[in-house]
Amino acid sequence: MSREIRTYWKNYIGGTWADGSAGGRISITDPATGQPIGEIACGTAADIDAAVAAARACFTSRVLQDMTPHERGAMMFRIADELEKATDEIARVECFDNGKTLANGRAEVPLTQRYLRYYGGMADKLEGRQIPLGPGFLDYTVHAPFGVSAQIVPWNGPLPVGARSIACALVTGNTVVLKSPEDSPLSLVLFAEACERAGVPAGAVNIVCGFGAEAGAALVAHRDIDHIVFTGSVETGKSVLRAAAERVIPCVMELGGKSGGIVFADADLDQVATSAAAGIFKHAGQICSAGSRLIVHRSIHDDVVTRLVAEAEALSVGPGIEGCDLGPLISAQQLERVEALCRVGVAEGARLATGGARVAGLDGFFMAPTVFTDVRPDMRIAQEEFFGPVVVVIPFDTCEEAIAIANGTDYGLAAGLYTRDLALAHKVADRLVAGQVYVNQWWVGGVETPFGGMKRSGYGREKGQEALLGYVQTKNVGIKL
Ligand code: NAD
Repeated sequence: MSREIRTYWKNYIGGTWADGSAGGRISITDPATGQPIGEIACGTAADIDAAVAAARACFTSRVLQDMTPHERGAMMFRIADELEKATDEIARVECFDNGKTLANGRAEVPLTQRYLRYYGGMADKLEGRQIPLGPGFLDYTVHAPFGVSAQIVPWNGPLPVGARSIACALVTGNTVVLKSPEDSPLSLVLFAEACERAGVPAGAVNIVCGFGAEAGAALVAHRDIDHIVFTGSVETGKSVLRAAAERVIPCVMELGGKSGGIVFADADLDQVATSAAAGIFKHAGQICSAGSRLIVHRSIHDDVVTRLVAEAEALSVGPGIEGCDLGPLISAQQLERVEALCRVGVAEGARLATGGARVAGLDGFFMAPTVFTDVRPDMRIAQEEFFGPVVVVIPFDTCEEAIAIANGTDYGLAAGLYTRDLALAHKVADRLVAGQVYVNQWWVGGVETPFGGMKRSGYGREKGQEALLGYVQTKNVGIKL
């Protein structure tokens, strides 16, 4: 595969390709080398203004609302087809600006197509209700769009995360301004190109890259947006909510996680080892629903740790473009943050079974796959999100204790358990406070299964049929006949 990528990328506003209005550019770094690989136009508050104005004009023109739902759905299928033509380029940019492995970079395209086709297929299936008021009356509900949907996406999976929110918004008749992540914006530019080729009306989709504190903050505080979808950290999420509160803007909030998997004594330990390793080492742990805590019955603790360490040490670490298993973290800053939290763990008395520091001898931001043992549930490494390839193993003796540990963080994004006992699985799944529960394999589910947080992990759901309800407001029409 060619290693060439373009060196300058623009924003997509009102159906045209735009430089930053202030002339600024953001330098894009390859996290596998630490070297700059190109630049993208830097969107400022003025660019956000232009994008919101374009989205508002498109919404007011009713071009999307005057389409039949089927036509809006067909548009998603056309975007999916156009995206396929960019598969190689998307796989490359996912390696170069995001640090994905080549396999994961390629997999982003079929995943994104599935979201587009899933929601495209649902466009004409979002039905209202007819409510019986008795003779002489007709009453029905309509799913009305909000208007301009402001969307903010993190750097770890910008293409599928951005595309699924855009698809939900468009099929329900909203228009979108999406602020792409400053660290890895390129795949969403290729998505905008696919929208353009697919004939998406100008202004329906606007994608602007800019810094969070400037362009992101300007977008969520903009006087002319009607809806917010935010995916990112809890801290940033709180500031988004404060801005939204000023104008009473409805929000879908997809925030962080510290998800725990419970391993019961009867579990299939081969299955546990592969599943738990994939759950924390995929994309170097930079996945909100990563299985970052493993809560293991004391009788099998040592065996599980040995297997997990073997999985970790078998991974090749290096640039995704070279076909390695584990790529880099997104930035030097993120690598330093993860290493620093590992040092805290050691200082708190936890034991490093493997890893714990950056990989020596590589230029990029590579963190060794890391397993901590002797971890107490109240330690910072058991409570705070690393967003890196670090799993903490915590022993338990009773089922009640395991459930309490699993539920014992501020987060509630995902949880899991491993057992051959189906009755136990149902009982524990019922008690876990998390938006998704996985039994005997981390990440059971996908495009079709509702995803989102409880507690500080946020609210609202993406994925699945339920997600569409976050993009519409119910209007009741009552008629005296
Ligand atoms: P982040 O909160 O730093 O940034 C997310 C986005 O918000 C970026 O586009 C950033 O530019 C923007 N932003 C930053 N400051 C802003 C502000 N003041 N106003 C508006 N926007 C602003 O998060 P990150 O480090 O990019 O991503 C990692 C976090 O995202 C982790 O906590 C992870 O768990 C979470 N995440 C959650 C999900 C989910 O679906 N629940 C998915 C992926 C990532």
